[in-house]
Amino acid sequence: MNHLLSIEELDRGAIERVVAQAARFAEVSDREIKKVPTLRGRMVLNLFYEASTRTRSSFELAAKRLSADVVNFAASGSSVEKGESLKDTVLTLCAHKPDAIVLRTPWAGSAALVSRWCTAAIVNAGDGKHEHPTQALLDVYTLIQRLGALDGAHIWIVGDVAHSRVARSNILAFQRMGATVTVAGPPTLIPREISALGCEVRFTLEQLGEADVIYALRLQSERMTEPWLPSLREYAAHYQINRRRLHPRQLVMHPGPVNRGVELSGEVVDSPQALVAAQVEAGVVVRMAVLYELLSGTHAPLRAAPEPQLA
Ligand code: ASP
Repeated sequence: MNHLLSIEELDRGAIERVVAQAARFAEVSDREIKKVPTLRGRMVLNLFYEASTRTRSSFELAAKRLSADVVNFAASGSSVEKGESLKDTVLTLCAHKPDAIVLRTPWAGSAALVSRWCTAAIVNAGDGKHEHPTQALLDVYTLIQRLGALDGAHIWIVGDVAHSRVARSNILAFQRMGATVTVAGPPTLIPREISALGCEVRFTLEQLGEADVIYALRLQSERMTEPWLPSLREYAAHYQINRRRLHPRQLVMHPGPVNRGVELSGEVVDSPQALVAAQVEAGVVVRMAVLYELLSGTHAPLRAAPEPQLA
């Protein structure tokens, strides 16, 4: 069985396949009865060790629209609080024979690890600051719906790149789809090695005008071990996307949750240039497409690159 662990292992063809399938599922979401029998009798387990609003609800909705059975497991309130390890928790839940496990944890690499412990298809719904592949796929889908294609588009990713799994997945996905990516933010929040991914790096927003799309990131305070910034006020003064900085032709994206008044001004969040609601909507159909690709059993594997050798 195949997994979705990272964007790194997907080529452009695999991304396009998910996007095309999501577009077909968008038609289902517009029906009065928003359900197809495609995954009837399959079981999807949502295993979340970190907070989530959009990702968890949209995976649940996606599985239900495909008629799969869904079991939601949140670490809080479970035996994890009594000290049960990730491995023992996974092995316990695998006794229920899930066909897919949608996993979110604060630990980078955990999705790949879990994929070695059980036979279910593993979908990485965010592993620490490593990757969040379905966020990148839904963002590509959202932009294709809006722009037709990403080829030649200039996308600026602004904010806390250092602690963001979204930044890493999105840089890779946007580039694979033909966009040019620039990351911008305070020097303390832009890791030095990021340019190895092939993106431009800026420490000010002076050249923000060259962007067609501005992708703002939240300050991931839950992953900050030291004070990386003098103050939120100072951060907003230099890096907030607001009316003064935003050109009317530019689009604004954000993975949510938004901290209004910090990375985005309230009026920008509420403006028609912001695609935040479209991104959430795309989350359901893109996650339907991912579950379909992994579980319907009628496709070439989603993974484009060869399987990594296990030690
Ligand atoms: N929701 C995204 C994530 O889980 C972004 C964020 O939390 O800021 O990574």
